[in-house]
Amino acid sequence: MAQNRPIVLKVSTVYDGRGGTIRNTTIVVEGSKITRIGGAAPAGALTYDLTALTVSPGWIDTHSHIGYHFGDDGRNGGRGEGPAKSTLRAVDNAVMTLDAGFTTIQSPGQLADKDLRDAIARGIIPGPRILTSLQPLMENSGPPDKLRELVRERKAQGADFIKLFASKSIREGGAQTMTDEQLQAACGEAKALGLRTIVHAHSAESAKAATLAGCTSIEHGAYITDDVFTLMEERGTYYDPNIGLVLQNYLENKAKFLGQGNYNEEGFAFMEKGVTIVRDTFKKALTHKKLKIIYGTDAVAGAHGRNYEEFIVRVRDGGQDPMAALISATSLSAESLGLGDQIGSLAVGMQADIVGFDGDPLHDVNAARRAVFVMKGGKVYEHLQPGR
Ligand SMILES: [Zn+2]
Repeated sequence: MAQNRPIVLKVSTVYDGRGGTIRNTTIVVEGSKITRIGGAAPAGALTYDLTALTVSPGWIDTHSHIGYHFGDDGRNGGRGEGPAKSTLRAVDNAVMTLDAGFTTIQSPGQLADKDLRDAIARGIIPGPRILTSLQPLMENSGPPDKLRELVRERKAQGADFIKLFASKSIREGGAQTMTDEQLQAACGEAKALGLRTIVHAHSAESAKAATLAGCTSIEHGAYITDDVFTLMEERGTYYDPNIGLVLQNYLENKAKFLGQGNYNEEGFAFMEKGVTIVRDTFKKALTHKKLKIIYGTDAVAGAHGRNYEEFIVRVRDGGQDPMAALISATSLSAESLGLGDQIGSLAVGMQADIVGFDGDPLHDVNAARRAVFVMKGGKVYEHLQPGR
């Protein structure tokens, strides 16, 4: 019943997600959308006083492995775990992510994402809006024709976009794996079907190949060089560096990953060096003023619900302007998802994805950790007293 009543948010400081600041007004929410900013409250409205908070659009994480978790055995993935437990761990991750102020995430991706995405969309469990690639494609997925077929298959399975692995992991040096022809086939077919492509690419050559193939975004890009950043600027390719959470989380939880695949001592030694490498690459990226740097964390097991750490590291250690970092986490990431007219900014007609922070993240980066009010699609999911 409450959802049928209009909601009025009384606010004092609002960042609109596009670089603007609105002060001392009201935001009127009807159904799932923002219908008015300013003016008197409609009859019967339910009012929330957010004047003690700093308000922004819900944040977006364009790269979160929402299903990844530690099992009861304390290990990544959990050995011998049943499907119900895995699903419930993914729900934990979704709830923690939403409570942290992230109202939309993109998962690149696993098959189980689909049911989680759809259950959240039906409103039966809390969580961020989820976009998923389902299973990613890689060099051994097949030759160009097979990749085109797999892209069509993913679309038929309900994928929102396509995820490609064009290079090795940072633990293995990040060299290009998919050929230029494979990338052209996959990104070309996806584009023809109206799907975006996000590409894991660490080396400069793999990022260059993906950019030339017309892929939508480059993920990680630890070793991207100035000439490739310039190419990405020219082509409008999005860049999703992940400098603030994923490597730090691996190092903090080393014992839970060690011994699985390339999570060996050598891999961890690479990741320790990687923290500085990716930060320096990010600083280089910032000098390219037209480069569209979006917000993704590459959150894995142990990182969900701390997606804000990326913002803190970008501003505090990477030297990014805090307003630019906020725009990255809201309207620019929304644009990269093809949802710029629905989410990522606070304006009339947009989805009512609204977060209130105890403190102002633009003046105190640590306030990004203190989302105390979270609304998604006009529904309030969290409303805590500030100063907890
Ligand atoms: Zn990833």
